[in-house]
Amino acid sequence: MSIVHVTGKARRWLASGHPWVYRDDVAEVAAEPGDLARVVDPTGALLGHAFFSARSRIALRFVTRGEARPDRAFFDGRIRAAIAVRERAGLLDPRGACRLIAGDADLLPGFVLDRYGSTLVTQCGTLAADRNRDAFVELARAALPFEIECVYDKSDSASRRLEGLEQHVEVVDGALPQGLVVHEDGLDYAVDVVHGHKTGHYLDQRDNRTRAAEFARGVDVLDAFSYDGLFGVRAALAGAKSVLCVDQSKEALERAAANAERNGVLDRMKFERANCMHDLRARAERGEQYGLVIVDPPAFAKSRREVQGAERGYVELNRRAFTLLAPGGMLVSASCSFNVRAADFQSHLSRAAHKAGRSAWLTEFRGAGADHPVLLTLPETSYLKCAFVRVD
Ligand code: SAH
Repeated sequence: MSIVHVTGKARRWLASGHPWVYRDDVAEVAAEPGDLARVVDPTGALLGHAFFSARSRIALRFVTRGEARPDRAFFDGRIRAAIAVRERAGLLDPRGACRLIAGDADLLPGFVLDRYGSTLVTQCGTLAADRNRDAFVELARAALPFEIECVYDKSDSASRRLEGLEQHVEVVDGALPQGLVVHEDGLDYAVDVVHGHKTGHYLDQRDNRTRAAEFARGVDVLDAFSYDGLFGVRAALAGAKSVLCVDQSKEALERAAANAERNGVLDRMKFERANCMHDLRARAERGEQYGLVIVDPPAFAKSRREVQGAERGYVELNRRAFTLLAPGGMLVSASCSFNVRAADFQSHLSRAAHKAGRSAWLTEFRGAGADHPVLLTLPETSYLKCAFVRVD
């Protein structure tokens, strides 16, 4: 049987509720990488069962505390509970999309499962997740109220390197759908699970896009870092006068234009390929004005070391965005850097507004949607921040 002994420090840390143990707090290992191991403290008392990673800084990710050893029926219960959360949130429309299992946040460490219509896309972040992939997918399929036609494993995230794992991509079952289109509350959009970012799409911004669109009616909208243009298309559908999407990726903008056409709003939308950092400054210098500006950049601080540089980045970018706002306009500004905490992001926004010479009011401070839950004992699951800021 696999056993991992942890230090007294680890026991105290675990007692605070956090479900991970770091490598330095492991005392002795009699387990193979990827095992579901019994974890015991220095007195020999059983603390629970955890997935063990030999290569990662995060050595143990707890699945349960206490005596019971998780078996197939146990994981079935966890997976059904995760899916039930999505069902209650109204995210199980057969033609829609959502994150069905958000890994550690859904108490299934390392295992992400997204759904686009009848296609499932997995992303495994640990060896244990790799090993359990097929069993977890089978349980999820059995729990879903509709048929799944394709299962695609897109375990290509950079964080796998921290676990000593290679990237791994394969069609696990069925055939990849051609021209996959998702329908979501009056919006249709294409998803390219193979070439798209993440598992194909930024599912976490869904509710924020819908909310942002409420400020679009009758105004000119700038959607910076637009990816496939869904903040913009939502805004156009809600009655924006014009929408400009800016992104550095040609493929993303092609998908954005196709999404605009698919939703019948192409005539009010424009797409420009540019580096937003420079482009927003140039637009500000030209005196352009928008009633709604959305800035949704990639994570500026991927590690704690990058936090200072990220601060400069967020302040500068948002300063330019504030300058571009017409009187009474709304800035929707997102940060997906876990390492930039909510309070810090607010202070970056405050400096940006002040530097731009604008009075600004934080009207809403949002996170990700219900399918990206935040596990309170694991602050690492709270990463997305989306501020709505009105200006004078
Ligand atoms: N708003 C999108 C998600 C944006 S993801 C949505 O709701 O779906 C971040 C995007 O920023 C990506 O499309 C990436 O191509 C783009 N990007 C990254 N750095 C950039 C830069 N310096 N200038 C312009 N676009 C950039």
